[in-house]
Amino acid sequence: LQLSKVNLHQILGDILTLQKNGLGNREIAFQQKFDPSIPPILADEEQLTQLFLNLIKNAVEAVGENGQIRISSRILSDYTLTQKGERRQRMVAVEISDDGPGMSREQLDQLFTPFFTTKSRGTGLGLAICHKIVTEHRGLIKVASELGKGTAFTIMLPLIQ
Ligand code: ADP
Ligand code: MG
Repeated sequence: LQLSKVNLHQILGDILTLQKNGLGNREIAFQQKFDPSIPPILADEEQLTQLFLNLIKNAVEAVGENGQIRISSRILSDYTLTQKGERRQRMVAVEISDDGPGMSREQLDQLFTPFFTTKSRGTGLGLAICHKIVTEHRGLIKVASELGKGTAFTIMLPLIQ
């Protein structure tokens, strides 16, 4: 990891600008809701860019011709990292949600497996890479999805400044 102080909102904003410019005729509405009190975090900027780009691209691909994509950030002041509850940590959470088709239980089970894809031209590597990047940053990646409703990915990263 090439660690430096990185501004998450700047990374997300840059990705959003690029994605919006590439939409063509598609009517996708982006909403962003950032907590301005989130400080720069110690992380690998290139890898975080890859991480959020993969997730936002998947959301764009999921909604298709029109839909809504929401990106939000917040601070979790006392997140419990272990089931026994003995390790607590300040974390930043970034949530990327879409109102696309959602996923079935079977899809969700294979999500982070390399080469799992439901797209005719997919590589199935995006989420496997996301998982690796998040783990290397000692963070967590969670997904909530419902068929017919949409999908939300939450990335949690330690707030080490
Ligand atoms: P790829 O995008 O090349 O298919 P990914 O690893 O990025 O590979 O994603 C794997 C699969 O997970 C996708 O093919 C799709 O079935 C599912 N998926 C990922 N993100 C979403 C999403 N936001 N909504 C619905 N399905 C998704
Ligand atoms: Mg992908």
